[in-house]
Amino acid sequence: MNIVYDPKSAPAENLLSPEANKAAELAAATAAAPGVLTVDLDAIVANWRKLEKTAVPAECAGVVKADAYGCGIGPVTRALSNAGCKTFFVATLDEARAVRAISSSATIYVLDGFFQNTGDAFAQINCQPVIGDLYELAEWDVFCRRTRWEGGAAIHIDTGMNRLGLTIAEAQGIVPRITAGDHGITLVLSHLACGETLNHPLNAKQVATFREIASLFSGVPASLAASSGIYLGAQFQFDMVRPGAALYGVNPTPEADNPLQPVVDLKARIVQIRNVEKGDSVGYGATWSARRPTKIAVVAAGYADGYFRAGGSSDGTRGAEVVIADKRCPVVGRISMDLLAVDITDLPANAARRGHMATLIGEGITVDELGHHFGTIGYEVLTSLGSRYARIYKGGDAITVTPPPADEASATQTSA
Ligand SMILES: *Cc1c(COP(=O)(O)O)cnc(C)c1O
Repeated sequence: MNIVYDPKSAPAENLLSPEANKAAELAAATAAAPGVLTVDLDAIVANWRKLEKTAVPAECAGVVKADAYGCGIGPVTRALSNAGCKTFFVATLDEARAVRAISSSATIYVLDGFFQNTGDAFAQINCQPVIGDLYELAEWDVFCRRTRWEGGAAIHIDTGMNRLGLTIAEAQGIVPRITAGDHGITLVLSHLACGETLNHPLNAKQVATFREIASLFSGVPASLAASSGIYLGAQFQFDMVRPGAALYGVNPTPEADNPLQPVVDLKARIVQIRNVEKGDSVGYGATWSARRPTKIAVVAAGYADGYFRAGGSSDGTRGAEVVIADKRCPVVGRISMDLLAVDITDLPANAARRGHMATLIGEGITVDELGHHFGTIGYEVLTSLGSRYARIYKGGDAITVTPPPADEASATQTSA
């Protein structure tokens, strides 16, 4: 596993190469950054392979919407693509463009679907809308007839989520078109509302409804399961599965241990260490006060960096924890915009110093745990990860390919 952009791993003779310059630049940026976000591309690939194995013979796609859940759509798409992932799901056309810039051959589905003025963009990128409404389908047909575009589209059928998708009756209404052949529909999909709850009655209802309607779309591949749905069993896997969160280390089976590897490590710098006296309060609102003479580490991450305010603590409630010098320490008082405070009284003297890093995610602190402290889910922790951290991508052979401008920007984003 090579740590990309680590100047120590760059051979001396490469020192003047663009890669080496970039490495030096990134090392400098990391040294000055208030925090460092490390994304383990090898872990993402290992998770994808495990999901693929779990769902075989179904195809395993990769969902890379929302900047690959905050992990970086460019590097993640490249790593998955190199690992053999052939189908990607995104939410928007801009995201489809980012995937196409990495892979000329990937099949790309755009979950937000088609609007009348977006046809040319779909054709240009050669990506496929996920159509969830009869008007949208009619508009798409008009566009395809007018331009003779034959790139195809997916049909989303609602089976109980009531978010996107044709109703069952509407889906039945377009079956004649399927039997007539030459229909341009490359995938039929639906989405589970309660996939993370093993015995939720809606799962059985949705899978039965989908099985029935999908069988009428004969010859068209079918897809129902996202991350959690994969773990509901083979009957949920159909021809293709669409994991997102599980790729990035979120536990798809919240009722059991996480079968997948953590992907994100987040560290932020200790900017000050101070002693407070028994009875003194810490932070805005003076919500937390010291019950003993207390040593506080003030860390350079706050709610503007995606460390939610809900992770703070008060005299009555516990908050999140961070790891400093290999030990878990509690966050004390409110989270500020750029800073949080940690009680490090129980660490050995001098174990933590100004300039050292505190681990906010990693060393046993999962995105799911943080989500719990933040009153949300791991998904939102990931998609909220701030832009002030230096980013390091670890592993993934693909990263040696020159990155496109879009992810160069994210790779060097280090503003303080
Ligand atoms: C976001 C999304 C996925 C991926 O869901 P995860 O729970 O992150 O695996 C799959 N399918 C659809 C339709 C989605 O919107």
